[in-house]
Amino acid sequence: MGPFELISQHGDHEQVVFCQDKSVGLKAIIAIHNTALGPALGGTRMFNYKTEEEALVDVLRLSKGMTYKAAAAGLNLGGGKAVIIGDSKTQKSEGLFRAFGQFVNSLNGRYITAEDVGTSVGDMEQIYMESPFVTGIPKDFGGSGDPSPYTAHGVLMGIKAAASEKFNTDSLKGMRIAVQGLGNVGSNLVKYLVEEGAVVTIADIDQSRVKMHHDKYGVAVVGPDQILGIECDIQSPCAMGAVVNDQTIANFKCKIIAGGANNQLATAKHGDQLRELGILYAPDYVVNAGGLMNVFVELEGYAPERAFDKTKKVYDNVKKVFEISKRDNIGTHLAADRLAEERIATIGKLKQRHPGKSSRSYTTLKEVYIR
Ligand code: NAD
Repeated sequence: MGPFELISQHGDHEQVVFCQDKSVGLKAIIAIHNTALGPALGGTRMFNYKTEEEALVDVLRLSKGMTYKAAAAGLNLGGGKAVIIGDSKTQKSEGLFRAFGQFVNSLNGRYITAEDVGTSVGDMEQIYMESPFVTGIPKDFGGSGDPSPYTAHGVLMGIKAAASEKFNTDSLKGMRIAVQGLGNVGSNLVKYLVEEGAVVTIADIDQSRVKMHHDKYGVAVVGPDQILGIECDIQSPCAMGAVVNDQTIANFKCKIIAGGANNQLATAKHGDQLRELGILYAPDYVVNAGGLMNVFVELEGYAPERAFDKTKKVYDNVKKVFEISKRDNIGTHLAADRLAEERIATIGKLKQRHPGKSSRSYTTLKEVYIR
């Protein structure tokens, strides 16, 4: 299948840029899915893709996901993503990232990059040498640093919104909550939940993390194979994707699923099934947008308090999803997409009428925001 056919199949992207610099071994693809709401922001993934088609499909899929995530989060951002084809353990170099930075820069702020799987803050620093259109740079450079505490706080807000919908209360005191995964997001979330007075049960495949959290917070522990099936009020998946699948769906004994992990539903069908089972699903990309909100604050000039404050919006966004779900009688997973699409249609149209600076090129990151 040719590249244009693939693009049509994966979401009618505005622009796809193939970047090559043989002198430093760079092969990368930048995909700009939609800029109706603002510049396309999304991380750069470095991965040893088996084929170029696999890399293209991944960047098309991920960039579209960013459009929906930013739109549902209420941010003035579009969706984009980049992939660098190569082994992140052995093929990184200053030259590679600076060459890539030049390609990012050539888009004059239509695409803004950030860290992703296989890239680090250090790599962003190299890109920053060539382009201002990069977020997630170190704090010393005015960046926002680690997004995880902000993601976790947003997840807490998403959990509260779901509790309010299902149990008519925002309070998590005494609520039985299962957290799968104690990494960057899960460990911050456990702290917040314990502070809220929730009765938390944890699991991780890394036993040292389990022990650390058990010792610190006195929370209950179950095995990683058991966590999704325990009897509780809320399941909060914070490890890997596709936790709601054909094998697991019948075993859930909770009333709500609301967590930080990406792509929690194996397929859309599983969203419909959760609805039939009476389990309220708070859609992952609306719940875990706190990290993106944090990065967005870099565009305004970073301030941690403002970023933290912004993550409280996740509560309202999740509530909006539930409203649409009831209004249109559809599952919450579809309602989230509808929330994003409606905002792109309404606000995108306004921007067309008063485009501000959108037809011009930018020279600084801040300039992108002031439009
Ligand atoms: P992480 O790698 O720091 O942590 C993941 C944790 O899950 C690890 O402790 C790992 O041991 C554990 N784990 C893996 N498989 C498991 C299993 N089968 N059972 C139990 N535990 C298991 O990752 P993270 O940054 O905390 O991200 C967690 C999830 O949230 C991912 O899906 C990520 O894509 C998503 N997310 C993260 C952010 C962020 O700001 N870090 C933002 C948005 C979405």
